[in-house]
Amino acid sequence: MPTYVRTDKCDGCKGQDKTACMYICPHDLMKLDKDGSFTGHAMKAFNQEPDQCWECYSCVKICPQQAIECRHYADVVPLGASVQPLRGSDSIMWTIKFRNGNMKRFKFPIRTTPEGSIQPYANKPEASLDEITDHSTLFTKGTHAGDMSQFAAS
Ligand code: SF4
Ligand code: SF4
Repeated sequence: MPTYVRTDKCDGCKGQDKTACMYICPHDLMKLDKDGSFTGHAMKAFNQEPDQCWECYSCVKICPQQAIECRHYADVVPLGASVQPLRGSDSIMWTIKFRNGNMKRFKFPIRTTPEGSIQPYANKPEASLDEITDHSTLFTKGTHAGDMSQFAAS
């Protein structure tokens, strides 16, 4: 189930060209409605394609205003309950609200690697398309011959 933005909290990341939620979303779903023409709320972000949301929580965690929340599947988080993180510099606090009013908080340490400094492919060879297409364990191998050139950048 998708995220949604609380317009009472979002400050549009103070008018930056790329807001924190736009920067972090792996699916490019968050958008800043600069003039309010999409949502009626100028300078507020919104999830422009909720059907495509992975519910990965990245935008929820990065939002400096705590303005993004997630609608959960009712069998996981029943209506009236919520699961909300608050990220610190070295820890994250999860606040679980139950619909009967009970509340629990869990705090965990997080890694402190500076944002943007990770090199996920460091010391690894670059991927080779030939190796990928020749790999016989790929489940599509042999069943969908296809035209592999369509996957190669031109
Ligand atoms: S990161 Fe938060 S405050 Fe910034 S634009 Fe997105 S929802 Fe608004
Ligand atoms: S939960 Fe993940 S996929 Fe959904 S809008 Fe936020 S960052 Fe994007």
